[in-house]
Amino acid sequence: MSIIKLINIDKTYNPDTIPVHALSDLNLEFKQGEFTAIVGPSGCGKTTLLNIIGGLDQPTSGKVIIDGTDLSTLDRGQLIDFRLQNIGFVFQDYSLLPVLTARENTEFIMQLQKQPKKKIKERVVTLLREVGLEDKLNVYPTKLSGGQQQRVAVARALASKPKFVLADEPTANLDSHSTSDLLDIMLKLNREENITFIFSTHDQRVIDKARRIIMLEDGKIAKPELVKQEVI
Ligand code: ADP
Ligand code: ADP
Repeated sequence: MSIIKLINIDKTYNPDTIPVHALSDLNLEFKQGEFTAIVGPSGCGKTTLLNIIGGLDQPTSGKVIIDGTDLSTLDRGQLIDFRLQNIGFVFQDYSLLPVLTARENTEFIMQLQKQPKKKIKERVVTLLREVGLEDKLNVYPTKLSGGQQQRVAVARALASKPKFVLADEPTANLDSHSTSDLLDIMLKLNREENITFIFSTHDQRVIDKARRIIMLEDGKIAKPELVKQEVI
């Protein structure tokens, strides 16, 4: 069963002034366990698509159904809760809170979910170990490299046990070594823990690691879509 269904999605910015058609009649489904890249040139609609899947922005028309829930039926408060429970986000600028350590940044969402303190502590240590930062638990973001900050962001995205993780150009600000490290960690989490990742990128090395590649062109899916059987 698909965990994400997009039905006839259109997105027009500034409909009343100078309209920009960012997405047109998009139909897409994503299944549990996917490792999917959304690719295409700057301005083709990648960020808009991820924002709409994640409920950060609403389509002008069409439906977004996440695990059976039509996002348009949720009020603002319900949508915030729904996101917190179901969706992990990774952004290209890391978006860590500078006044919190790696551990505290990762704990934050679980605290919002009001999970028991002991459980939070255990899970955070496990997650930061999985992203190779067990020795950086009490370090602040400014003392971490870009690659390390993005690994904290991946741990944070997973803290709430989301159904899937959306990552908008997660390697855009990373050098090739950190890019490769981050991809290896995401792939390992995908293979070993069946974590679903949907990420946008225009980096060919990142595209090469994806199992499913959706190419956007002017807000539409450029055919054919590529699905690989196994990552090499
Ligand atoms: P990408 O992520 O592939 O670079 P975007 O989704 O950011 O593409 O943008 C798709 C199109 O929508 C572009 O033409 C962009 O200029 C336009 N766009 C994006 N966000 C806005 C906005 N908030 N207001 C108006 N136009 C926007
Ligand atoms: P990316 O290439 O990573 O998608 P952009 O530089 O296209 O990022 O967009 C960064 C931010 O600016 C986004 O929040 C997007 O919504 C906004 N934006 C992009 N294009 C426009 C536009 N033409 N008018 C207003 N806001 C825009």
